Amino acid sequence: SEWLIFSTWWVGDNISNLMQSVGASEKVFHLMDLSPSSQFTSKGKELQRLKGDIEFRNISFHYTSRPTVPVLQNVSIDVHPSEVVAIVGLSGSGKSTLVNLLLRLYEPTNGQILIDGNPLNELNIMWWRERIGYVGQEPKLFRMDISSNIRYGCTRDVKQEDVEWAAKQAYAHDFISALPNGYQTLVDDDLLSGGQKQRIAIARAILRDPKILILDEATSALDAESEHNVKGVLRAVRSDLTSRRSVIVIAHRLSTIQAADRIVVMDNGRVVENGSHRELLLKDGLYARLTRKQADAVA
Ligand code: ATP
Repeated sequence: SEWLIFSTWWVGDNISNLMQSVGASEKVFHLMDLSPSSQFTSKGKELQRLKGDIEFRNISFHYTSRPTVPVLQNVSIDVHPSEVVAIVGLSGSGKSTLVNLLLRLYEPTNGQILIDGNPLNELNIMWWRERIGYVGQEPKLFRMDISSNIRYGCTRDVKQEDVEWAAKQAYAHDFISALPNGYQTLVDDDLLSGGQKQRIAIARAILRDPKILILDEATSALDAESEHNVKGVLRAVRSDLTSRRSVIVIAHRLSTIQAADRIVVMDNGRVVENGSHRELLLKDGLYARLTRKQADAVA
């Protein structure tokens, strides 16, 4: 899917950089296929001070290629500044689509997304994307050493110790240190597991210090790995060294997001529940059922 490239464009990338990303060349064409709204443009507002308040207001959406399939129906979600919101739901319930809309890969069919109260479609798209750290399920790394992969796209001057700090936050430092050349190890196709790649991408996002951080938890990662990945992101939001940020986690394992401030449960394109882990267990609805099912599957 077009997802895979977006771990790279948020760094204000150009197409030639995208082409160098390991195995990403075929994905570039997806970028060019997207609606005009997603093309790079100088139009639109830039906010002076972004707080990170995100509101999905009555969003309905269908993909133009499948006009008869409503993917989101009257979805309203608030993400307050500095909040960690997890989005859960069965496969196909519309979780990734919400993020697609937030990244402005597509425009809602109905309803509005508001950023600090401003309609998202009035904001400058490049400015907006630069403020988002997006870590996809299969982030693309570059054919360069690990350290450069973590630094990639960071406009500030960063020292090696900053790189290692970010890697520690992302639970990546230990496996990196165990590689033959540590941070200087060259990344190639099969050096790292899916979960490890995701942790490198999380370190990269943390180092960039985005106001809004989005993690699409890798379904391919092992349970323990996945738990680390999500914890790394949760830690990033609360870290003192960085500014406060809003975090959205698309979670596939319910065990990893119990500490989220809020959990939004999607079913068939609708928000059916919204609350903390405790609240949702007490409610004994879909979330509680899914939690029991996953616990059984693991046991
Ligand atoms: P998963 O957990 O499997 O990633 P999800 O909850 O993220 O699923 P979405 O990927 O948002 O769900 O998909 C919601 C619906 O939209 C599904 O029916 C899917 O087939 C459809 N869909 C997703 N992407 C596209 C696309 N680019 N074009 C047409 N339909 C799509």
